Amino acid sequence: MRIVLAVLLFVLQSLWLSAAYADVKGVRLWHAPESSRLVFDLNQASEHKIFTLSSPDRLVIDIYGARLNASMDDLPMKTGPVKKIRSGMRNKTDLRIVLDLAHKVDPKSFQLKPNKKYGHRLVVDLYHQVKVPQGKITPLKISKPVFEVKDTLKNKRDIIVAIDAGHGGEDPGAIGHGGVREKKVVLAIAKKLEKLLKKEKGFKPYLVRKGDYYIGLRDRTKHARKANADLFISIHADAFSSPKASGGSVFALSQKSATSEAARWLADKENASDLIGGVGGLSLDDKEDLLAGVLLDLSMTASLSISLELGGKVLGSMGKIGRLHKRHVEQAGFAVLKSPDIPSVLVETGFLSNPSEARKLKGSNYQNKMAKAIFKGIKGYFQTSPPVGTYLASIKGGSNKKSNTITRYTISAGDTLSVIAQRHATSMAKLKSLNGLKSSSIRVGQVIKVPAS
Ligand SMILES: [Zn+2]
Repeated sequence: MRIVLAVLLFVLQSLWLSAAYADVKGVRLWHAPESSRLVFDLNQASEHKIFTLSSPDRLVIDIYGARLNASMDDLPMKTGPVKKIRSGMRNKTDLRIVLDLAHKVDPKSFQLKPNKKYGHRLVVDLYHQVKVPQGKITPLKISKPVFEVKDTLKNKRDIIVAIDAGHGGEDPGAIGHGGVREKKVVLAIAKKLEKLLKKEKGFKPYLVRKGDYYIGLRDRTKHARKANADLFISIHADAFSSPKASGGSVFALSQKSATSEAARWLADKENASDLIGGVGGLSLDDKEDLLAGVLLDLSMTASLSISLELGGKVLGSMGKIGRLHKRHVEQAGFAVLKSPDIPSVLVETGFLSNPSEARKLKGSNYQNKMAKAIFKGIKGYFQTSPPVGTYLASIKGGSNKKSNTITRYTISAGDTLSVIAQRHATSMAKLKSLNGLKSSSIRVGQVIKVPAS
């Protein structure tokens, strides 16, 4: 009896002790282009408070009934707003963390419950109020003629492809055979795909995640919408409990999720207003709710059928470089695929839990092959079905016409004969002879003949 009591007392005591103090077991810091994220790993949930102080700018984080049991020496502070991080105890019970800041930030904090990868976490997001240089900055190159051509090429725009490398930052994604991390593999493939699209005339890539930081799933699609993307492609690598699972797959949104997502968007006024200019340029604001619902449904249905067709092309070219997990485009309710107005696909490039696939996916050689396969699928789809008004649409239409067809062109401000010639794939001399011009001077409003491209 006595022993039982002693054990009980010991258990109670240790319970009381662990309840009394929350241990901060780890501190992590990640930098994204618009914010930095500080994460405290805790062994239990704990109340906290944050506030800022100025001159000099500081952020104070008080975690009640906690103590620091981790090192903060190796946090990456060369970029981002945090210059220095200090800690101390307050009232003998509370942990105070002080960040010395390079400039003012908008801080937001919240707690996260344990999940598969992490335990209790306190997250402090520091939104930059001023632009902070993130590593190397490449100066904006504006070569004048090219800029002018782009500017006046209103009816021949590029197809914008938003490339989303899954996971990032504190979310490593799948951790595969030999410790290979999904977030790293997929960012490498995304960057290679970006390079390929950059080189291809008529395409313009937009990398959603550019480095090792986390972006919320809904934010990823928001970034794509802001970039006016024609396509959203999310790149991942799978893991499964069995090391035997292998092969790539491509996903589009399921019909059921698409329908409920349309309803959700409609219900959410803020999101619906986000769509203005998205659904074929139609505003949902000034339409009746019912009509808006129909439009949204149509848009979602159109997006979905493009996603399925394009996904099929990507899957087809992936099948030429490696195994496929499934021979058809699968459909699931992934959050990143839920843009009603942007065709979206998710590519699982292979299984990191499969030793031989993990080895391949880790290497630059196979990453290149994978990027090329995805690129071929995208290009193949848009060559046969280019969006209206794009460069690809213009060359597709042109190939059916005789090359000596003539159309008329009205000179607008900033036009020069050489730019017009470039744009219509002809020479200044040809334009002059076609129009009987003696010099190359033109005036605004003047109508000239140009070869139809
Ligand atoms: Zn993933």
